[in-house]
Amino acid sequence: MTSSLMNVYARAPIAFDRGEGAWLYPVDGGEPYLDCVAGVATNALGHCHPVLVAALEAQAAKLWHISNMFEMPGQSALAERLTTASFADTVFFTNSGTEAVECAIKVARRYHAARGEPQRQTVIGFSGAFHGRTYGAMNAAGNPAHLDGFGDRLPGFVHFAVDNWPALALAIADPATAAVVVEPVQGEGGARAMTETFLDKLRAACTAHGVLLIYDEVQTGMGRTGKLFAHQWYPNATPDIMALAKALGSGFPVGACLATAEAASGMVPGVHGTTAGGNPLAMAVAIAAFDEIAKPETLTHAREVAQHLRAGLDRLAATHPGVIAEIRGKGLLVGVRLVPNNRAFMAAAREQRLLVAGGGDNCVRLLPPLTLTVAEADQILDRLDTACHAMTNVQVAA
Ligand SMILES: *Cc1c(COP(=O)(O)O)cnc(C)c1O
Repeated sequence: MTSSLMNVYARAPIAFDRGEGAWLYPVDGGEPYLDCVAGVATNALGHCHPVLVAALEAQAAKLWHISNMFEMPGQSALAERLTTASFADTVFFTNSGTEAVECAIKVARRYHAARGEPQRQTVIGFSGAFHGRTYGAMNAAGNPAHLDGFGDRLPGFVHFAVDNWPALALAIADPATAAVVVEPVQGEGGARAMTETFLDKLRAACTAHGVLLIYDEVQTGMGRTGKLFAHQWYPNATPDIMALAKALGSGFPVGACLATAEAASGMVPGVHGTTAGGNPLAMAVAIAAFDEIAKPETLTHAREVAQHLRAGLDRLAATHPGVIAEIRGKGLLVGVRLVPNNRAFMAAAREQRLLVAGGGDNCVRLLPPLTLTVAEADQILDRLDTACHAMTNVQVAA
């Protein structure tokens, strides 16, 4: 079935033809699956949210794409919302998260070049990071599994462990450093939240040395952690530049790079662009998604259901110490670090009609829609409990 597709995904052997809220209906019929992947933290409002369907249908009958050669009222409207709700003054729209990260890196280097410091090029990244699969983004993350076999590493990227502050501080003070890029909660790395102490120190050091701080909130942004942006949990560690995507379109491909006016001061006509990024169809859906996600009641609900889920997961971890090693993450970006292999656990969860995402450090991630109900959270816990028992039995039998 997949023979004419490039062989780059280890796909689970299920196909779906319909989704509603947190539920996915398989093509072969049968019981629906409870979806804690949500298109990898993308379907923040669940599948086929009626407001998004209406926005898409209305725009589809009017205008899809015109290119950035013309005025884009939809872009202005969404940029206005994003800047009003954040530290940023200015926005560039992309099609994906990796492009939003590319833009962030370009904004940072251009800032220094325009100020007469073109030697400031180095971008500092962290072990366990993920920023996407284009060359700049994967060099910023520095994961050898993603870089090997694709030629020489790009110059101008260095990496540190999050807990190696002395080395990191020296690198930030280096006059060739342009920016630091970090996920406030590492997503693909296994739902690892940065501490407030660390981000505060990072912010202070960047400010002291004229280095720009970039947050990759592609996964954490748009309500995932229970605030509109994850860094809003850390009031003294505001970035200069931020990358968004995933839930920004809540299932429609769109990303954004946000920046302060100061950080974006090097960006002038001709230095950056995209053909389809921010087209009217994407903007119509993203505006509708923004207005739903940014509602105080949506974010309050996400925090409450996340708390309920977390309490239940902590109980499960206590009940199944041979299966669950640790619960971590923030809000509805939940990491379950496992004792047995995480891929085996994903299969055991699928047996219970529960879909979970993989993650680094032998984790599975639970990334349900922000609209998950408390009753659905209880179903997640029940299904995980059964999967844990199944894993325990397998281990006992072996
Ligand atoms: C998913 C992700 C990306 C890449 O987004 P794409 O839309 O797949 O290009 C970048 N950064 C983080 C933190 C992500 O989770």
